[in-house]
Amino acid sequence: MAKSFEKIGCLARRSCTIRDRQTMENNMKLEGSCDCGSVRFSVETDTPYPYNRCYCSICRKTAGGGGYAINIMARADTLRTTGKGNLAVYRAAKNDRESYEEDGLSPSHRNFCSKCGSALWVQSTDYPDFIYPFASAIDTPLPEAPESTHLMLAHKPPWVAVNAADHDARFDSYPDIGIEQWHKKRGLFGDK
Ligand SMILES: [Zn+2]
Ligand SMILES: [Zn+2]
Repeated sequence: MAKSFEKIGCLARRSCTIRDRQTMENNMKLEGSCDCGSVRFSVETDTPYPYNRCYCSICRKTAGGGGYAINIMARADTLRTTGKGNLAVYRAAKNDRESYEEDGLSPSHRNFCSKCGSALWVQSTDYPDFIYPFASAIDTPLPEAPESTHLMLAHKPPWVAVNAADHDARFDSYPDIGIEQWHKKRGLFGDK
């Protein structure tokens, strides 16, 4: 998973800050909301393609009744929320990375609407620069992914069919490249 913009550095100007570099990018602003409208949010992203289909049991049970959920990635410092008081957070007691906070729960904080139950975004203390909104919560039209990645297939129950194209990537656990790298490889980073 992509970790931070700091790694990339700035090619255009030696002294530019991370903030300068981010504003030079062609960011896409996303608006999202829960089903009942109690929570609304906006966030900026360079990685808007909804290509990652996660079949883990947590995504399936909390956000993907058809078998999987799709997370995209956006910049945490641009998150603006209205109706914050209606947010609730779920943290699972297990994860494949075996990464836990001191209280023994997952570092992935799954934010959802306490009124209607809509899954909204995941925020991880392991990756504080980013948030991972569920594509299902985004109201702005997202670009269609040219191909999909099917991940966490080891956790898929038999009744869930994997509708994968021939060129789609499949992984039993986590994919081999992060969301930022996936976009860059295809010339889609900062695309609208
Ligand atoms: Zn709601
Ligand atoms: Zn998942």
